This record gives sequence, C-alpha cells and structure tokens, in this order.
Amino acid sequence: MSEKIIYEGKSKIVCEGPDSGSYILRYKDTATAFDGKKKEEISGKGVLNSAISNLIFEYLMKNGIETHLIKVIDDTSAVVKKAEIVMVEVIVRNVAAGSFSKKYGVPEGTALKNITTEFSLKSDELGDPMINDSQITAIGIATADELSLMRAQALKINELLCALFSKMGIKLVDFKLEFGRTSGRIILCDEISPDSCRFWDSATNKKLDKDVFRRDLGDVLEGYREVLKRLENNA
Ligand code: UDP
Repeated sequence: MSEKIIYEGKSKIVCEGPDSGSYILRYKDTATAFDGKKKEEISGKGVLNSAISNLIFEYLMKNGIETHLIKVIDDTSAVVKKAEIVMVEVIVRNVAAGSFSKKYGVPEGTALKNITTEFSLKSDELGDPMINDSQITAIGIATADELSLMRAQALKINELLCALFSKMGIKLVDFKLEFGRTSGRIILCDEISPDSCRFWDSATNKKLDKDVFRRDLGDVLEGYREVLKRLENNA
C-alpha cells in the first residue's frame, strides 16, 4: 500500500497508478448506508466485492462494454483507466424496491411494466437527490449527448446482466452505475457488486446484497459469498 492516495471514498481508495493514464483502485472493508450515516467495518467485504465486480466487468467487456478495468493486481486491487467521473449515478430498475417503492408507494417486489432509468446527483452532502436531464444539462454536469449515451449503455448493461444473473438463479432487481470521461469517451467506472445492486435469489427472494446491512437482516457477507460462488460458475 505504498502508492500515493489520490482520493479515499466510502468503500474504495483511488491511488496513483503505474503510469499517467491509470489509477490503482483498492476495495475497503467499510460498509456504509444512508449517505454514510451508518458505517461499519466488515472484514472480508473488500475481497468479495473486488472479486465480484472484476468478474462482472470482465463479462461486460467480453460483451462489448467499455470499462475502466485494465488489470487485476491482487485480491482487493486493480489497475483502472484514469477517468473523470461524471457526477451522476445512473440507476436502472427491473423490479420496484428501496427508494422507488417508498417514494411512489409501489410495494417492494412489484415487477415493473418497463425498465426505468433515473439519475441522482452524486453528493452525500445533499443526499444524492434525483435529478432530471434538463437539470443536469442546465448545471453543466453532463451534456445531452453524454446523458443519452450513459442511458443507452446502462440499458445494454442491464440486458447483459439480466441474462447472466438469471442463469445464476438471481433476480437483478436494480443497480447503480457510474461513468467517467477518458480520451473523449464515456466508459463504465466504479464497481458493480452487492453494494451497488439488489440481488434476490430467484427461488426464495432472499436478499443477497447490501440491504441485509442497511436493514440489519443478519450476516451481510453470506449473500455476497453466494453471489461470488454462482458468478464463478457462470461468468
Ligand atoms: N445505490 C447505490 N448507491 C447509492 C444509491 C443507490 O449503489 O448511493 C444502488 C442501490 O444499492 C440499489 C439501487 O442503486 O441497488 C437503487 O437504490 P435506491 O434508489 O432504491 O436507493 P436506496 O433504497 O438504496 O436508498
């Protein structure tokens, strides 16, 4: 861990990379929820999320999605392309849950008649408020072209992930993506893991994701381990 730290986030650290075009991303064991208000160290979470996210990114890359992942270094670190993160979170939903259920009064688990996409401003301070296209372009966070590209990529990623996870006996309820700008392109960054997705066992609806931590439902890592085991057999 000798590299210079560029930025320390809630669940990952960004360090100086081996060259000027890259960073090293290190996964931490910290779990947070409610914009960082709930926080706990969960030994082993970093290793699991790193393995899960790397397998998912490798699967997406094999299927034509450009991502920041260059090379896995060890069980919590990878070299990634340097990118300027677009300050919105892109959320895709197949099934109602979480804030969507609460805000719109739709019971959790209700299948949605169409896939939804939405953007949230990346700001813990402001509580990641939902923000629409015209507001994003008005503030100058992203251009209209960038928004349509991110939305199209998010839908393509959803299609690929739904195919993969259904083979694994897991329902992909919803997930959050982050994109970054690099060399004039927009690529998928950050992570895709049980921290950023809702995964429900297809047969039992058992939660295999961070809701177990958010809602104090028991051993968080049990679900993460299950997701990794099934990914290793299917990705
Ligand atoms: N999500 C995330 N980071 C956030 C907000 C949401 O990774 O800051 C993920 C979350 O894990 C879920 C999806 O995005 O898979 C939709 O989350 P939702 O809007 O329902 O928010 P929550 O109920 O988690 O507050």
